[in-house]
Amino acid sequence: MNYSIAVIPGDGIGPEIVREACHVLDRVGEVYGHQFSYTEVDMGGCSIDKYGVPLTDEALETARKSDAVLLGAVGGKVGNSRWYDVAPNLRPEAGLLAIRKGLGLFANLRPAYLFDELASACPLKPEIIGDGFDLIIVRELTGGLYFGARHTEKVDGVETAVDTLTYSEKEIRRVAVKAFEIAMKRKKHVTSVDKANVLDSSRLWRKVVNEVAKDYPEVTVDHMLVDNTAMQLVMNPRQFDVILTENMFGDILSDEASMITGSIGMLSSASLNESRFGLYEPSHGSAPDIAGQDIANPIATILSAAMMLTYSFDLDREAQAVQVAVKQVLAEGYRTADIMSEGKTKVGTVKMGELICERIR
Ligand code: NAD
Repeated sequence: MNYSIAVIPGDGIGPEIVREACHVLDRVGEVYGHQFSYTEVDMGGCSIDKYGVPLTDEALETARKSDAVLLGAVGGKVGNSRWYDVAPNLRPEAGLLAIRKGLGLFANLRPAYLFDELASACPLKPEIIGDGFDLIIVRELTGGLYFGARHTEKVDGVETAVDTLTYSEKEIRRVAVKAFEIAMKRKKHVTSVDKANVLDSSRLWRKVVNEVAKDYPEVTVDHMLVDNTAMQLVMNPRQFDVILTENMFGDILSDEASMITGSIGMLSSASLNESRFGLYEPSHGSAPDIAGQDIANPIATILSAAMMLTYSFDLDREAQAVQVAVKQVLAEGYRTADIMSEGKTKVGTVKMGELICERIR
């Protein structure tokens, strides 16, 4: 099969890590008989330099016409770059919001997986970690409190701020369907997280999730309040497979979940729309402090490319081969600087990419 991928290297370490992820995809193509073709798209600071805006209409159209998008990261040193002497909607990160909106990406996927080899970086106790955890948070990305009407006014002479949390049945249903579809590819367990003891939007959330669950009889579903989920993530993360939740709860829980894995350079993510289309990117930023030095960890981006194989191309076996190769490289003791520990072999970005490619079979 041929797959066309819009590649957005972006700024900082973006070009270096995306290059390694493309090498990995090429290697997958060689071994499994697929062809990946790439169209480079400018976004972020590099687009500002060329076109004066962080994302042009043409760039968005190129992304839309592709089968999937692979993104490095955008942005420079905040407060220390010409890219920030402009209105917020013209800064590099505005490109991110524009592309997510332009592509209708409403479901954000953030896996939290503990590699045995990096268990020492996990802040949890060994008895809690046990034989590791492997969960994924499916967060609604375009609704809820962050997108509701808001204003600040004086009420009886007191300054008062109002934010509104709105969810329609349609918005809940489409992200719930995504979560159940993802669960079908995993351990078939969805934990839907809400605050149904307080919020109307959560009660509707729970009702719709239960309706969607009827179409997936093989998937076990349970409901958990968000405050309890925050505790359970650090007390017993092994109980989770797919966590489904709304925008703000997901924002907070996905950062909590990523911290218990220990390293920012290992965390992949995906944002999906209603079709199989998705944008895949590492969870970290453009790390301008280490750009151009061949020391950035490319694994988060490589694992994001593996997510692309699973969720956009349905190539589960190929995605598995990438994950196994990453695990093998770590097991053999190779580390980039951010995950380096005593007795291990330090390698740069390019070498890490090569080592992973060599182990894809
Ligand atoms: P960051 O994630 O870029 O960096 C935080 C720290 O982690 C830095 O010390 C960095 O060197 C390190 N780090 C990050 N990724 C790494 C990797 N792959 N390997 C090794 N070390 C890594 O966050 P920040 O410093 O707050 O932001 C830098 C820029 O990135 C800002 O302009 C910010 O707006 C932007 N940003 C972009 C995205 C995105 O494109 N999706 C996300 C977050 C931040």
